[in-house]
Amino acid sequence: MSAATTPAAASESLDVLIVGGGPVGASAGALLQLAAKDTRRPLRVAVLEPNRPAAAPSDSPLDARVSALSRASERILTAIGAWRLIPPSRMQPYERMRVWHESVQPRSADVLEFDAAYAGEPNLGYIVENRLIQTAALTAFEAAGGRIIAGELSRLRVHDHHVELETSAGTFTCSLVVGADGARSAVRESIGLTTETSSYRQTAIVANVRTELPHERTAWQRFLHTGTLAFLPLADGCSSIVWSADDSAAAPLLAMPPAAFEEELLRHSDAVLGAAKLRTERLSFPLRKLTAHRFTAHRCALIGDAAHVVHPLAGQGVNLGLLDAAALCERVCAATRMREDPGARTVLRRYERWRKSEIEPIALAIDGFNRYLAHGVGPLSRIAQHGLALVNRTEEVKRFFITRALGLGGELPRVARQPPAP
Ligand SMILES: Cc1cc2nc3c(=O)[nH]c(=O)nc-3n(C[C@H](O)[C@H](O)[C@H](O)COP(=O)(O)OP(=O)(O)OC[C@H]3O[C@@H](n4cnc5c(N)ncnc54)[C@H](O)[C@@H]3O)c2cc1C
Repeated sequence: MSAATTPAAASESLDVLIVGGGPVGASAGALLQLAAKDTRRPLRVAVLEPNRPAAAPSDSPLDARVSALSRASERILTAIGAWRLIPPSRMQPYERMRVWHESVQPRSADVLEFDAAYAGEPNLGYIVENRLIQTAALTAFEAAGGRIIAGELSRLRVHDHHVELETSAGTFTCSLVVGADGARSAVRESIGLTTETSSYRQTAIVANVRTELPHERTAWQRFLHTGTLAFLPLADGCSSIVWSADDSAAAPLLAMPPAAFEEELLRHSDAVLGAAKLRTERLSFPLRKLTAHRFTAHRCALIGDAAHVVHPLAGQGVNLGLLDAAALCERVCAATRMREDPGARTVLRRYERWRKSEIEPIALAIDGFNRYLAHGVGPLSRIAQHGLALVNRTEEVKRFFITRALGLGGELPRVARQPPAP
């Protein structure tokens, strides 16, 4: 807990209480707090977070948990003042993505390459430590006048005109509760929003490695018949691996000694970056897909992983969550400007329709990549493999995918549309 965290009074009344101060919840808080300053009716916004990470020394080794942030996310984090709080020395811009199937050579013409220069962009995004994204967003929220409450949700009751929340830090009432409390969302459970959930029967193995060859400011991803293996470039010259392997393959990979794991890494990456030496321990994350059937209920809205969890192969979780945060903020602030109740079902349904129509096709496409490119056998898989090479040779399609990689496709919230003023 930070020393700056305010102790909460019991039965306090708020306009919006965001449960979960992860990267998505903290950014939603800052967006709401800043947008409300422009309206005649300022909002009292608080974020409830039990595990605020401590700031790490600026010269500490890079964490193994990182995310690829899109241009849209960069714009949102810039707008709330969080981007400038992330030291440039710890974020790595990546200029290219190279994606290939194990049936082709890693440096052949059949490798699908997305180059930022092709779209007239300086890069496709940045690789940033999760902890830094979260701490920067929480600090930005506080700087905007928001309040962080150190506590955990235990019970929630929705009434006609308010929501009542029992937490380890006291009891609160608010007009709108935002569930940003991750994949196991207590908010989602408490209000009875059901989900479609399935296990990928895969585990993501995450670690930082130093490779023999330079990463070339490129995100590399190989589709294997047992999953996907990605190397994301880091600011210290190392790479972050995300190896999403079938559970049966992941268990021995996690258990074997480092030298044997490094051998497997060399073999499964087809030596694209040469030999790799582990720089951190191996972390593991069981992978599952989750989509809430509804993102909203009376006086409640879900954002980020609380609403949807996608496979990490496309690096989209935080990026989609930040767009949820910006879309919800836009709808809520438009409502308060019109003197509408921000927790009203009609207001929240506008947010839900918007984000569901954006997320569902993306989740479907990510699933398809996992099903037919990783693992796949049979005709559909072969079509998908040819599709990779075809996309590489078709300019229009390639530009479409680069726009998507930048997070600039679809209907964007205003804050993600415009480059921030210099
Ligand atoms: C291996 C791997 C690689 C990934 N790579 C990428 C990538 O490159 N790019 C990308 O965009 N995404 C990536 N993701 C996805 C990304 O990590 C998640 O989508 C993201 O962390 C979701 O953020 P969130 O704020 O919604 O939830 P979380 O990060 O889960 O935060 C939820 C917060 O809620 C708090 N909380 C939980 N319960 C309660 C409660 N009862 N009361 C109060 N607070 C509570 C928690 O303490 C936590 O701080 C990856 C995921 C994995 C597994």
